[in-house]
Amino acid sequence: MQNATVPQPQRLNGPGLSQSPTFRIYERPAELNFVIMSWSVPEVCVLTYHAALLAPPPSLPSSCPTIMPAALAICAHPDDIEILMGGTLLQLARRGWDLHYVNLCDGSRGSTTMSRQECAAVRLEEAKRSCEVLGAKFYPPIYSDMEAVYTTENLQKVTAIVRASKASIVLTHSPSDYMEDHEISCRLAVSAAFSHGMPNLESIPPVESYYEPVTVYHAQPVGNRTPLGELVVPHFYVDSTDLIEKKIEALACHASQKEWLDVSQGMDSYLETTRQLSREVGRMSRQFEHAEGWRRHLHWGFCNSDDDPLRLALRDVIIESDPTGASA
Ligand SMILES: [Zn+2]
Repeated sequence: MQNATVPQPQRLNGPGLSQSPTFRIYERPAELNFVIMSWSVPEVCVLTYHAALLAPPPSLPSSCPTIMPAALAICAHPDDIEILMGGTLLQLARRGWDLHYVNLCDGSRGSTTMSRQECAAVRLEEAKRSCEVLGAKFYPPIYSDMEAVYTTENLQKVTAIVRASKASIVLTHSPSDYMEDHEISCRLAVSAAFSHGMPNLESIPPVESYYEPVTVYHAQPVGNRTPLGELVVPHFYVDSTDLIEKKIEALACHASQKEWLDVSQGMDSYLETTRQLSREVGRMSRQFEHAEGWRRHLHWGFCNSDDDPLRLALRDVIIESDPTGASA
């Protein structure tokens, strides 16, 4: 491993980590475009590759199973993932990441013309098509629009999704956002990421807990502002300039939303509105034409203090925010 750096193993601390797994990160030289992280616990060896994988280093035991690293997007409504994080997911997909996708609400109240049942069925199919465009694995919603509540049962359901995805990155809404479905979905996503390694938190359906760290990142709130109108400045920006058309293609799968958003929120052409919001974040970055902003959740109970897999995986398409809070 020429010029590689091999930091000392770190012991994980956190809920459910009673087996004391060890964690190592190896980084190969940039010209090889290869980063490998590994975790090991008794009788288990998990290897996770970041960035474009060329070949496993020859020193690794051949008996170790290999998996691609996984990122899970958890949002409220069908179309939120596409609008807030579609570019970031596509950037991860380019680097070989395994993507997972769930809208916790079924979208059934987002219509003035269809019944709830009809609307839920239409939006389910739209979301599945969009998920295919993004290249992600689809998970069905767990409740109806406006029924997002923080309950143990809902936490158990979201925990099952986190565990099934084996994600090392969870992407979700801003903790402070313009409407309750977004904020509750965010809280459930954060708690499910926290409890992914807690064997005594029984998920619905039952899925075995896992021990690898999970790092949570929050997207920008809708309109880049809190419900009280304060500007939210992300920690860093992901360039989505050359992926904007693919992001719009995914969003356009939610065809039933055009009429609804025209009527309910005055979003004349929500595809164009999404382009404008994407450009606004790009202007905030002072670097990219189109961008998505992210804030990393504190590590306690989730991951190691210096774990930052999203920044690591996308480091060539990221710019840090201006600490003075510069905006467009
Ligand atoms: Zn939404």
